[in-house]
Amino acid sequence: MPYHPQADIAIIGGSGLYEIQGFTESAVLDIDTPYGKPSDYITVGDLLGVPVAFLPRHGLGHRVSPTELPFRANIYALKTLGIRRIVSVSAVGSLQARFAPQHLVVPDQLIDRTRFRDSTFFDGGVVAHISFAEPFCAGVSKVIAEGGDGQGIPTHSGGTLVVMEGPAFSTKAESEMYRAWGGDLIGMTALPEAKLAREAEMCYGTMAWVTDYDCWHPDHDAVTVDMVVENLIANVANSRIILRHIVPTLAELGECACHSALANAIITNRSHISDEARRRLNPIAGKYLD
Ligand SMILES: [Zn+2]
Repeated sequence: MPYHPQADIAIIGGSGLYEIQGFTESAVLDIDTPYGKPSDYITVGDLLGVPVAFLPRHGLGHRVSPTELPFRANIYALKTLGIRRIVSVSAVGSLQARFAPQHLVVPDQLIDRTRFRDSTFFDGGVVAHISFAEPFCAGVSKVIAEGGDGQGIPTHSGGTLVVMEGPAFSTKAESEMYRAWGGDLIGMTALPEAKLAREAEMCYGTMAWVTDYDCWHPDHDAVTVDMVVENLIANVANSRIILRHIVPTLAELGECACHSALANAIITNRSHISDEARRRLNPIAGKYLD
């Protein structure tokens, strides 16, 4: 096992967030995993005295589409660095009038509309069923929401995020259907990221930044690319401000239920687990496989 500098907190940057100001790099890691390479190099460094890892979800230059994202490699690689908490940053569309462009939403629920993604570490001879009724870490989500409020940014605590496959956006009929289901936001990347983080026993919370109303909105056709880009730029600037304020608080969070998510989840008889599966799952579930 190569030496990797350890960190407790990881930031997964979304559209527009490819680096963090005030972050002092100490290592740029090219990590390989049983699921291939992560989206990009993982940078480990120091943000306000806190060791932090940073991964741009779509790769520098935004090269990787949501469907092609190596979600398992990303989460696996972060786990090998000792990460215990993840803050994910995402651009989303809004399905509700009250969630306006440039607002921050900290979602507490997910609806999975993805189709082509590997969404578990537990295959290939080992079966586990984690609890996912509450898909986001309450502790991390609370710190994010308080960070938004504290900086005077319009912030909503709670909301249901619909995750679609993409890369094309929804039809109007789909958008109206998601609204009827109780969806508040629409994005393309929170799943299976949140699910894999839970399987890897890491706390996971999302900063979802509204760039536009989805196509259900009567004004949708009047929205220009320039307006969406302007919102995206403002959102990225605000996410950097909030990250700088919340990282020290995140570092002080204690043990969480997320850290024992696998305790009763693996149902495969241990005597039937192959050496290959044990090696592959060692960073994720090694302590449960004896
Ligand atoms: Zn947690």
